[in-house]
Amino acid sequence: MTATLIDGRAVAERLRLRVAARASELRPKGLIPGLAVVLVGEDPASKIYVGSKTRQAEEAGIRHFDHRLPATATTAELLQLVLKLNADPEVHGILVQLPLPAGIDSAAVLAAVDPAKDVDGFHAVNAGRLALGEEATVPCTPLGSLILIRQVLPDMCGKRALVIGRSNIVGKPMAQLLLQNDCTVTIAHSRTRDLPALCSEAEILVAAIGRPKAIAGDWIRQGAIVVDVGINRIDDGSGKSKVVGDVDFATAVTRAGAITPVPGGVGPMTIACLLLNTVNAAIRSRFGAAAEKIRI
Ligand code: NAP
Repeated sequence: MTATLIDGRAVAERLRLRVAARASELRPKGLIPGLAVVLVGEDPASKIYVGSKTRQAEEAGIRHFDHRLPATATTAELLQLVLKLNADPEVHGILVQLPLPAGIDSAAVLAAVDPAKDVDGFHAVNAGRLALGEEATVPCTPLGSLILIRQVLPDMCGKRALVIGRSNIVGKPMAQLLLQNDCTVTIAHSRTRDLPALCSEAEILVAAIGRPKAIAGDWIRQGAIVVDVGINRIDDGSGKSKVVGDVDFATAVTRAGAITPVPGGVGPMTIACLLLNTVNAAIRSRFGAAAEKIRI
């Protein structure tokens, strides 16, 4: 058996087009969705991510406001900036690029973001709403992963789902989303016993652990849907680096029913979902919570 490849690039492209179409409908109504992007320090990977986010925002008709602070910035300075952005009516979404430099109280900064502008979905209010099954801004990576699962399985009712990883930004919200979609959900982590046995039962498996190829192909249940969130840079054997996922793709592809590749799977969905969250935040801010937003 060879698994169906779930093409994250193509799905993300279609989502970006929908977001751009909605943004262009809002313009004549005098509403231009605005995203504030805060980057602190000189981390090269963060600079690349921020560059992609602002470029794709621009292409989707979202105005972006860039704020660059030196690595020496203090928590107080960052909090002051966040409060200013919270009060700015042209800003509908605030993105604080993580990780913040050591010495900055990241939790305090994220908690200061107005939940209505929290397009990353990291604020406790949004995490709480998601857990309660209320309307919430959902973190972009799990939201993108759910959209990818829906490509091959629109109705997940009753499926046994395993989420490996329990971080606040991926694993926990992913589990909540699968639960909302009527899956029977198990969450595994570094202390879980007998992970292969859990994997062998999972009809949907989401790996978000940050360990290259840690999930062996022969652990996977025949026909399972496998979503690989991991982004791990390893030596390709010739001194160059390459990116691999948390799942051993070469062996998993022979057992899974459908699988996301790395790269080209979940990664492109994350930014597309950030744009989606930003346009939806703009719609909510202007037309109220009941207004028709972009649905996934
Ligand atoms: P994280 O905060 O480091 O969390 C990793 C989780 O995996 C933890 O819950 C940890 O368990 C668990 N874990 C670690 N080793 C394990 C093992 N051997 N067996 C079972 N569980 C294990 O990472 P994260 O932020 O969630 O990110 C996870 C991966 O996704 C990373 O590769 C990251 O680069 C990638 N990522 C990708 C995107 C994207 O856009 N595609 C976005 C975000 C993250 P404990 O809680 O017990 O420590």
